[in-house]
Amino acid sequence: MSSFVVLAVLSAAGVQEGIRYGSGNNPLDAVVKLADAQLVQQIVGLAPMQKVTKIDRLGKAATLWKEGDKAVSGDASREERIAILSVLQRQGALGSETDLLIAKADGQKVPITVLVELGGAMTLASGAPVKELISAGPTAEEIATKYKLDAFTADGTTWTPIELAAVDKALSMLTPDEVALLGGLGFRRKANDVGGRSAFYRRADDGMTIDIFDKTFKFDGEYFVGSIDAPVLFSVGIMLHEMAHAMSDFQGRQKAIVANKAVAEARAAQDAMKASPSPETKAAAKEKTEAARALRGAINALDKVMLAKGRAAEKSYAAVVDAKTSVSVYGRTSIDENLAESFLLSKLDKPALERIAPQALPWFAAGTLAKEAQKPLE
Ligand SMILES: [Zn+2]
Repeated sequence: MSSFVVLAVLSAAGVQEGIRYGSGNNPLDAVVKLADAQLVQQIVGLAPMQKVTKIDRLGKAATLWKEGDKAVSGDASREERIAILSVLQRQGALGSETDLLIAKADGQKVPITVLVELGGAMTLASGAPVKELISAGPTAEEIATKYKLDAFTADGTTWTPIELAAVDKALSMLTPDEVALLGGLGFRRKANDVGGRSAFYRRADDGMTIDIFDKTFKFDGEYFVGSIDAPVLFSVGIMLHEMAHAMSDFQGRQKAIVANKAVAEARAAQDAMKASPSPETKAAAKEKTEAARALRGAINALDKVMLAKGRAAEKSYAAVVDAKTSVSVYGRTSIDENLAESFLLSKLDKPALERIAPQALPWFAAGTLAKEAQKPLE
């Protein structure tokens, strides 16, 4: 199977091909507005164009459509037809797995997994309708205390109880060793990100945070992660992805925290010198400034080495998983992103990871990410 996958990817580098998790996140708005007859018409028209040969449903075993059929079986629910068409409308359906939440008229949502084999067989699995995927839980202070994180902050907006519950859920998936690697980190809620990112782990001069934007929650109404029996908010997956970056950067962050402290002390010493100039305050300011400059210089040099050589966790991961062919389209952009995408699936959707990158499962199960990320930088 693996050689076939490689060929499929090489034949269309950059586009959505090969086996993968996800199929792109296109809003469902246009599809849910279609009348039943239009849904059927478009499915029948698009399936052959996407090289889909048949559409089966798991559980209540039924073939809903097969090559040559001019209609979709009346056995398919409206929600299932919406899910099928949504996947068929994406670029390159073959090889994808998409976990959709389709709203019913009463507001409840049906979790539906749509899997398409490279050979063209589409399989659908529908779960029982759910009202809410998550309910309000602990406060920001309680979460920070429980996981020994920096205080949660918000810039230009506020945290809602559901958003905090999503963070708490993501943190609850971590092992104690993994939680320890989030040390020196806080969560910051921001309205928008100029870069258009969904969320962002940052190690910066003014702080170390995972930034959570409005966009983090953008797809929570239309997608889920995990199984149809226990669907998890899409945003929880995004948070786990960022946590993987933060864990991998644990040692770098600890050094940066020390340097940031030295910079703050240097600024304070310079202010003291300006407020009351004397040989003593001048000497103190000079000493603190030089110490801060040395620490910053050492970190910059170390970051250059890390950038060239890769960090310990990513290097170990790259030895078992080929980032070019696995996990998700975004995960193919770099080994760092591949590890982060793989990590979220290892926590929320093991069968998906098993299908796409089976060699990653034992790597995560052995606690390798935490073991490698703990190693001191050289
Ligand atoms: Zn990332």
